[in-house]
Amino acid sequence: MERKDVDRTKVSPMMRQYLEIKDNYENIILFFRLGDFYEMFFEDAITVSHELELTLTGKNASLDERIPMCGVPFHAGNIYIDKLIEKGYRVAVCEQTSDPKAKGIVKREVLEIVSRGINMNTDSISETDSNFIGSIISTPDNYIISYADITTGKIFVTSIINSKETLIKEILNIGLKEIIVLSNFDKWIINKLKKEFNICIYISDTIDEIEQYKTLYQNIDDIRFIECIKHLLCYLNNNSKRSLTHMQPVEVVNNSKYMHMDYNTKKNLELVYNISRNTKEYTLMWLLDKTKTAMGARCLKNYIQYPLVDKEEIEYRYNIVSKLIFEFIKREELRDCLYEVYDVERLCGKISYGNANAKDLLQLKNSIKVFPEINAILSDIGYNKHLFILNEIYELLEKSIDENAPITLKEGSLIKSGYSNELDELKKIRIGGKDFIASLENEEKERTGIKNLKVGYNKVFGYYIEIPKGSIGLVKDEYGYERKQTIATGERYITPILKEKESLILGAEEKIINMEYEIFVTIRDEVKKYIKELQKNSKIIADIDVLSTFAVISEENNYIRPQLNNENKVEIIGARHPVVEKVLDKPFIDNDIIMNNDTSILLITGPNMAGKSTYMRMMAIISIMAQIGCFVPCKSALIPIFDGIYTRIGASDDLVNGESTFMVEMSEANNAISNATKNSLILFDELGRGTATYDGMALAQSILEYIHDEIGCKTIFSTHYHELTALENDLTHLKNVHVSAEENDGDIIFLHKIKEGAVDKSYGIYVAKLANLPSKVINRAGVILNHYESSPTSNISTEKVIEKIIHEESEVEIELKNTNIMTLTPIDALNLLYKLKEKIKK
Ligand code: ADP
Repeated sequence: MERKDVDRTKVSPMMRQYLEIKDNYENIILFFRLGDFYEMFFEDAITVSHELELTLTGKNASLDERIPMCGVPFHAGNIYIDKLIEKGYRVAVCEQTSDPKAKGIVKREVLEIVSRGINMNTDSISETDSNFIGSIISTPDNYIISYADITTGKIFVTSIINSKETLIKEILNIGLKEIIVLSNFDKWIINKLKKEFNICIYISDTIDEIEQYKTLYQNIDDIRFIECIKHLLCYLNNNSKRSLTHMQPVEVVNNSKYMHMDYNTKKNLELVYNISRNTKEYTLMWLLDKTKTAMGARCLKNYIQYPLVDKEEIEYRYNIVSKLIFEFIKREELRDCLYEVYDVERLCGKISYGNANAKDLLQLKNSIKVFPEINAILSDIGYNKHLFILNEIYELLEKSIDENAPITLKEGSLIKSGYSNELDELKKIRIGGKDFIASLENEEKERTGIKNLKVGYNKVFGYYIEIPKGSIGLVKDEYGYERKQTIATGERYITPILKEKESLILGAEEKIINMEYEIFVTIRDEVKKYIKELQKNSKIIADIDVLSTFAVISEENNYIRPQLNNENKVEIIGARHPVVEKVLDKPFIDNDIIMNNDTSILLITGPNMAGKSTYMRMMAIISIMAQIGCFVPCKSALIPIFDGIYTRIGASDDLVNGESTFMVEMSEANNAISNATKNSLILFDELGRGTATYDGMALAQSILEYIHDEIGCKTIFSTHYHELTALENDLTHLKNVHVSAEENDGDIIFLHKIKEGAVDKSYGIYVAKLANLPSKVINRAGVILNHYESSPTSNISTEKVIEKIIHEESEVEIELKNTNIMTLTPIDALNLLYKLKEKIKK
């Protein structure tokens, strides 16, 4: 039976209540609290039972047909909600908001809507990842993106050019989990994001100003930014249904402050994610992450994705790293303190959201405890920022919250004795009652002479006196025992005095639980007043955690402080690839990377597997490490500050997006040459190999010439086309280098050493031999190669080849040249034009 078919006049009051609430949450799964369960009905029940493999049952709701129903225990609700939101659903959690014991139907209200982007269950969100939800608004020239992580309270806003492709890359780059757009937003983009990237997208047209959040964007002038922020905040406010007092002032992401790297570059360089292994292992993040706090880990990830371009800011980080390497005892003390600090940033979110429990407040207390010690060390090392000490909060939590408090807030045992007189009085009554009951057993044994009599308690009957079967005959009327329950082994009785004490104990118990909860909430609200200070502390802790990690990593791995220069000079001596070096089971062969003012392009040749790609990636990784403020793996480094890194590396076909290798190659090349400036770094690994040899070679040459003549930025270009090495004669700033290999008795030995000049040989067949191809194939390839090498065409220079291509393509041109326009009639001219056009098409 479907919801729309229900005759609402016939259903039970509870079902009517369900239907009325569900009407407000179309397209959202409603978790409807019924006692100890969350129940789902109708289409929600069918969907959820299918998605979570739960049993689909039916409920008789005074209708002819049973209605589909399924349920989950309320205490495990979060687990099921997480599974559903992972699958892209949203869940509205409807709780009982009045006392279930009171007469009449229990009141119920949706208290929150959980989705991928609005999820405060931090247990299910990775510590090192941000959980961004964003709004995108399209303007004639730009896309405006505002995004927030409600677990930390951070909000950002940025703008990019109005290009669908750039927008999709930026969304992936930021890592948006959920997006909201206006109803007139481009349907093609919505579909692409949903289908290909599994991103949740919802339509929301509300853009209101919410008084409470105005201050968050008061310093922003751009009205397009403000609209986008308001759109996001409205959605967050309406869906979370909570106070978001922890949201921090909106940060405008100024792209010119950071080294530009697009999504593909970050992916290709394996900065935070390893494409080939589908893990975080063997990435730069993996190498560097020795942070002690979750805030530090998130901050490090942010550093890696947004390297700085301001020399002073970078040098400041180097100074602190230097200091922390030198003052290693202080550094270790600092790191020991940091180890004690919990995720204060996310704790602030939970406190503001109203779902922080006692364990969270205890974590906060333990974190605050080490603030003074951290501050002392920060002063000693000359760090320019300091933490708020917040003693008052520490003391409040220390004297109030019980160290053994449970996770739930409705069981009592939250508050220490001595904090509230009223609470202590109630606890005394409870203890008095319990003592009385404990002594009652002995008194009754004596009074009745029944030695095996016992006093017990259960939830249904409360306190009782239990007498085993054999002694039942000894019970006399004068004892005043009233039989309450018969069990297999005897009888259970109650007495007026027992019931009197019971109501005293249970009354006290209930009052204690309520009072503890109220006291707890008051304390939590008191802490809430300090959220701004705690958030500022979180930022400082995160930064210093990362810088101390840089010091540790640099010391452990022998990294050195780079020298930054404004003269566009690269002189890295004895460079190593820091990740490959860690993973190799043999020594890494270091190499120099030298590109002085005369050299802007290194054209690198060498056999497959020689280390060309490692060499160029090493250049990028070292530059990124240098610009995030870390020391670098080499003997000495003189490096410029790059404003961007553009790459075409690896065979990351975008087949999912329907693009072939060659198309990806060309669009990445286009992205590089149209965005790179004189101060950028371009890395092209075997560009052009995705198409036929001559095409590829021609394109590679023309792209090299373009970079050389028009851009002039530092470029490393690896290639298989030996012919291209002749360019050194024409392009003054291009230099040939090669990775050496040695031939030994028909086998190849890779030396992984970069040398000047071009490689003399291709060694492809040797590599094939290494890969254990059958000897018949290898020998035959040798014969064919000899044949090619001795044939005259092999001596054609690149220039000639390109000329030939151009010549062949100019047939139309020749025909045009031979045509005398003056003798043509208009109709002949039209026919000729048609013929030529057809030729071009062919
Ligand atoms: P190419 O791009 O020339 O085909 P790669 O850069 O992919 O070669 O390197 C192939 C393998 O050689 C790497 O996986 C690595 O194990 C090893 N290698 C590369 N460079 C070095 C080096 N400098 N020292 C030691 N081993 C290296």
